[in-house]
Amino acid sequence: MESASLASGLEERYRAVCNGIARAARQANRDPESVQLVVASKTQPVDAIEVLLRIGHRVFGENRVQEAQDKWSALKARYPDVRLHLIGPLQTNKAKEAVHLFDVIETVDRGRLAKVLADEQLKQNKTLRYMIEVNIGAEKQKSGIMPDDAALLLDQCRNEYNLQIDGLMCIPPADQQASPYFARLAKLAGEMSLPNLSMGMTADYPLAIQLGATHVRVGTAIFGHRIAVTL
Ligand SMILES: *Cc1c(COP(=O)(O)O)cnc(C)c1O
Repeated sequence: MESASLASGLEERYRAVCNGIARAARQANRDPESVQLVVASKTQPVDAIEVLLRIGHRVFGENRVQEAQDKWSALKARYPDVRLHLIGPLQTNKAKEAVHLFDVIETVDRGRLAKVLADEQLKQNKTLRYMIEVNIGAEKQKSGIMPDDAALLLDQCRNEYNLQIDGLMCIPPADQQASPYFARLAKLAGEMSLPNLSMGMTADYPLAIQLGATHVRVGTAIFGHRIAVTL
């Protein structure tokens, strides 16, 4: 159930994040328009998402294909200019649904996945935009390509599969200072001449903007903690 006061709280927190983004950009002598807020709406109910749609926000990130399909199939029909980013890991057996639903897939991290996505694009006659997810802390058990292998994957995505890759994405190691990792991702993107950098979440998006983020993925600062099932 959506209550007016909870909706206004959500709107207030959303505006605060927008202001935080603009402030961080100006402090870094950057145009606030050069930073896109991707609202991370995983686990959030449709009611909460709709509060943001009604006030005009259009760019959202989801982690799981199935959950995104359940929530967004109807919403996308009503808000056709929504842009959905996949920000969680993708299994090749979900590529078909992912290509159908999403506009940007930020988590390309292996050649096999790139190939399957390329095949699906052709079948569906749809062109998405992509980012390569980099395992910037080179952590075991974490998704993303190792930093040293990113340039090769980019070549492969472009030359073998014709995927439109325009940026890098990362999730730095938890419980560590994020700035060295953000700086490393920015440097890597520079070396690869990729214009977009998806980095920074609730805890560190101003820092990410200072270090060049063009996309920040923010959930908790807008929705509150992800335990509430209903709004
Ligand atoms: C959930 C999530 C976010 C948002 O994190 P918050 O700390 O809630 O802002 C960003 N990126 C990814 C990949 C996520 O899964």
